[in-house]
Amino acid sequence: VLRTGEEYVNAIRHRNKVEIYVMGKEVKDVTEHPFLKPSVLAFKATYDAAHEEDSKSLGRAWSSFINEEVNRFTHIHRYPEDLAVKVKLLRKISHKTGACFQRCVGWDALNTIYVTSRLMAERGKKEYYERFVEYLKYVQKNDIALAGAMTDVKGVRTLRPNEQPHAYLRVTQVTKDGIYVSGAKANITGIAASEEIIVMPTRAMGEKDKDFAVAFSIPLDTESIKVIIGRQVNDGRRLEEGEIDGLPYRTNHEGLVIFDNVFVPMERVFMLGDWQMSGILVEIFSSYHRQGYGGCKSGLGDVIIGAAYNLAKQIGVEKAPHIQNKLNEMVLLNENMYGSGIAASLDAVKLCEDGCWWVNPMFANVTKQLVTRFPYEITKFSTDIAGGIIGTAPSEWDLKNPKLKPYIEKYLQGMMDYSTEDRLRMVRLLENIGFSVAFLIESVHGAGSPEAQRIAINRVYDYEYAEKIAKYLSQIEKRIEFKENAEPWRSTDTEKLANNG
Ligand code: SF4
Ligand code: FE
Repeated sequence: VLRTGEEYVNAIRHRNKVEIYVMGKEVKDVTEHPFLKPSVLAFKATYDAAHEEDSKSLGRAWSSFINEEVNRFTHIHRYPEDLAVKVKLLRKISHKTGACFQRCVGWDALNTIYVTSRLMAERGKKEYYERFVEYLKYVQKNDIALAGAMTDVKGVRTLRPNEQPHAYLRVTQVTKDGIYVSGAKANITGIAASEEIIVMPTRAMGEKDKDFAVAFSIPLDTESIKVIIGRQVNDGRRLEEGEIDGLPYRTNHEGLVIFDNVFVPMERVFMLGDWQMSGILVEIFSSYHRQGYGGCKSGLGDVIIGAAYNLAKQIGVEKAPHIQNKLNEMVLLNENMYGSGIAASLDAVKLCEDGCWWVNPMFANVTKQLVTRFPYEITKFSTDIAGGIIGTAPSEWDLKNPKLKPYIEKYLQGMMDYSTEDRLRMVRLLENIGFSVAFLIESVHGAGSPEAQRIAINRVYDYEYAEKIAKYLSQIEKRIEFKENAEPWRSTDTEKLANNG
């Protein structure tokens, strides 16, 4: 089924009890909780995207697994174009939410497990792939809201999992029916708005770490799972009643997910002790997610560019050459992130015969590396254009106080085409998106911190070959054997991946 947004919200409202905490208190209904409701609404946008006229061609895909149309957020990419549609879809949904809409992590997890279980099947271990395809059909048929959980708490970064078992999620017991797991996953995006979690290992593992090389899926309403929602900048405003300051639009959330000896039935286990595959899985997942950032972050960039342009108009400076330069610079930065995500898609890598496509790992890592820098630049330019009011504007409650209103209206008025309220609204929008976790902090750390991409980029780029070219052109060497490809990259195929593992 292609669920509607309403059907999704109803399902979340009426699901079995899940143990979720916000600021120390247990949440009864995430769809009504002021802290989490905006997040549910952002998540809902991924369901609406399959039905709304302007987006349904992007938001739907044909599944050859169930021979039905499915929501694209459950789709396994069959062509490089599918990957490009993903980036376009994410940019579009950002325009409707002004937020991270959280469902892409689960989507990337589906594609990752699909590929890794295929690779394991090719090496003779077929059960994971068989189980996964059954699970995938269930997810597609029911249009399930998935979270992906990769990041472990990691404790002391110089110690391996087996040297500090509590810091990584681990298998504590294996029975013939399933496994028991304990540990915690951190910074899990959209967790409270999800129905199920796909859990994956967070790093390459050695043989001694094999109890930590585990991947599975589990409904969030499983006993002994606890979720502690993290705080965000300005989140207190969600508890306000207002409609200007109080974040009337969407946001995302992250949570610490605790697994206290949780049972996972064997049909939901997609990796168990395969420590050699753990690094490969992480690499596949992180590139998928890094590619996606080219879409969602450029979409938020559009909102910020639009807000900065409008604020410039409101004070009559939009034609000033230096303002135009800054706007132009913002567009340049933004389209760089997007273009890179599109390149990662269209120059995809085929990982198995009948079409399973992985993003181009070089471009995916470049995309994400740009995303660790450019949103900060874009926000800086927008702050510059908006003026100090972005950090000092009076509250909506001042504007609504009859004693203060005439003064605020008089002194904060710009061009007469706009009211002071318009100005305050736009300032708040810019402030709340430009300085949000989704646009800044997540841009740095989501899908792996900056250093992780630099390592990946270094691994793929062949400095030796580039040097050979230079040596040949300077005639230090008289001969060169040119590669067939223009890019001096090392191979990005499965064999290369296997070696990394
Ligand atoms: Fe999706 Fe972007 Fe949010 Fe990741 S950061 S879940 S890609 S919207
Ligand atoms: Fe993310």
